[in-house]
Amino acid sequence: MSWLSRGTSNTDLIRQMQAFGAIKSERVANVMREVDRGLFVPPSEDAYQDAPQPIGFNATISAPHMHAHCLELLENHLKPGARALDVGSGTGYLTACMGLMVKDEGGKVVGVEHIKELTEKSKQNVHNSAAGPLLEQGVIELHTGDGRKGWPPHALYDAIHVGAAAEDTPKELLNQLKPGGRLVCPVGNVLEQYLMVYDKADDGSVREHTSSGVRYVPLTNEQDQRRPRGIFR
Ligand code: SAH
Repeated sequence: MSWLSRGTSNTDLIRQMQAFGAIKSERVANVMREVDRGLFVPPSEDAYQDAPQPIGFNATISAPHMHAHCLELLENHLKPGARALDVGSGTGYLTACMGLMVKDEGGKVVGVEHIKELTEKSKQNVHNSAAGPLLEQGVIELHTGDGRKGWPPHALYDAIHVGAAAEDTPKELLNQLKPGGRLVCPVGNVLEQYLMVYDKADDGSVREHTSSGVRYVPLTNEQDQRRPRGIFR
């Protein structure tokens, strides 16, 4: 379905994805229209095709329909004033979208990426995008670090997105989730992965459900990721 979308511009891509039903929420469509994917994808790639594209270092920018799906899963937790964490922030595309969704009323989004070259590039990408002022204002922070440990200085978070596949339940990240908050994370290995949704109740208990079968790059350590190998798509 959504993989059929191939736009001539960012606006055209979003229009097609809405027509195919890959974006259902108007709020998510608006934010994805505002953040031009073309500013986040290497010039050699087709930024407006609904597919993942390589960004170097054995990583990919997720496909637009996955960005849309994750933003829709988190939408009710990305209200103005909310605090959010984007683990494996890569190009910074989703961090930028999340920033625009929470920016009013003191909201904040922290992106954590373990490849420092990607973090530096993501700062340029976000700077050039509609979310650029949020970086300067400190609404968006982009850090280099091991995202498996979350980002304790700004915990607890209303919304946590993980852009790489954890082998198992991401317990440390769940510890940094606010009661009432939601964490979305692909869990599994290269053969079998599911996008998992974890909801923390007010009493601290966690309920989980499976959203869909997916294929993400692994949430791993830096040395393993830098080792040459096949590209995940
Ligand atoms: N949402 C990003 C996804 C990029 S791919 C985007 O669409 O641009 C997943 C990213 O997770 C890669 O950039 C990879 O370098 C990063 N990653 C993998 N393991 C990590 C870890 N332990 N800590 C932080 N980032 C990690």
